[in-house]
Amino acid sequence: MLSGDTQVAAVIGHPVRHSLSPAIHNAAFAALGLDWAFVAFDVAAGATTAAIDAVRVLGLGGLSVTMPHKDGAALAVDRLSADAEALAAVNCVVPSGNGVLVGENTDGPGFLDALADQGVSPDGLRCVVVGAGGAARAVIRALAGAGAAELTVVNRTPERATGALALAGTVGRPGPPEAASDADLVVNATPVGMDGRSTPLPGVRFGPGQVVVDLLYHPPVTPLLAAAEASGATVANGLGMLVHQAAHAFRQWTGEEPPVDAMAAAAAAGLRERSAGTH
Ligand code: NAP
Repeated sequence: MLSGDTQVAAVIGHPVRHSLSPAIHNAAFAALGLDWAFVAFDVAAGATTAAIDAVRVLGLGGLSVTMPHKDGAALAVDRLSADAEALAAVNCVVPSGNGVLVGENTDGPGFLDALADQGVSPDGLRCVVVGAGGAARAVIRALAGAGAAELTVVNRTPERATGALALAGTVGRPGPPEAASDADLVVNATPVGMDGRSTPLPGVRFGPGQVVVDLLYHPPVTPLLAAAEASGATVANGLGMLVHQAAHAFRQWTGEEPPVDAMAAAAAAGLRERSAGTH
């Protein structure tokens, strides 16, 4: 039951209608019996600072930030975490004491937690990341920080790969798509495959012993994952990362340990509804 005491958290994005964040966070609040509610606000590009100011004015308990506001939010908050500063992007705003808004980026930690769910640690692995945008940059920083032995970045626009490689330290280098056939861990951080037909690594052969992660989760099995799985590789889509980045945000907003199983179940149900076209 909502009341005058209910603490409100939200996500801003554009478009945001299909966001799974309300389902994930409201399931978590319900599981723990917290008097919190989570809503989605469609905020036009260019209105990021006004939306962040609204967090202060309305006294929101937390804010998730998605496209196209992640870069602007990094400029609009009062302080940045180390991850958010390195990535110059914020996906989570945490109101701390005295009205100070802290910008966080939980994509990298969420990615690592999702990998851990698969029993995979990047320590000592040869990794290939396809893409050099916001998600790729978070994954590259996380993999380098978690001890990847090699980190090859494959990107359509080579200059952008060079920029992202600054986050990889000494293990990073640019490379061709074929590098993926020899890697221990391959991550697709591009939207290629969202149409259910295309793959970011056409012609690349995978095999047993490899782990292939697609950050996409709609469709749940992209052509990349289908090909990799058919070749005996271990595969995972991006739903785990989505849930775990939300879990990190939840922990910081509420101070409570996130009920990850309830959050994952809500995400999976939301995705099923979306796939069935009912939402
Ligand atoms: P972004 O900043 O726009 O970057 C997109 C990247 O994909 C760029 O490297 C771009 O290459 C590449 N790309 C785009 N279209 C391409 C094409 N047709 N062929 C080859 N490369 C192409 O986007 P983002 O925020 O990083 O998001 C990337 C994907 O990750 C999205 O699909 C998003 O839904 C997903 N994601 C998932 C999660 C999760 O929690 N699972 C979190 C964040 C993002 P150029 O540099 O050459 O333009």
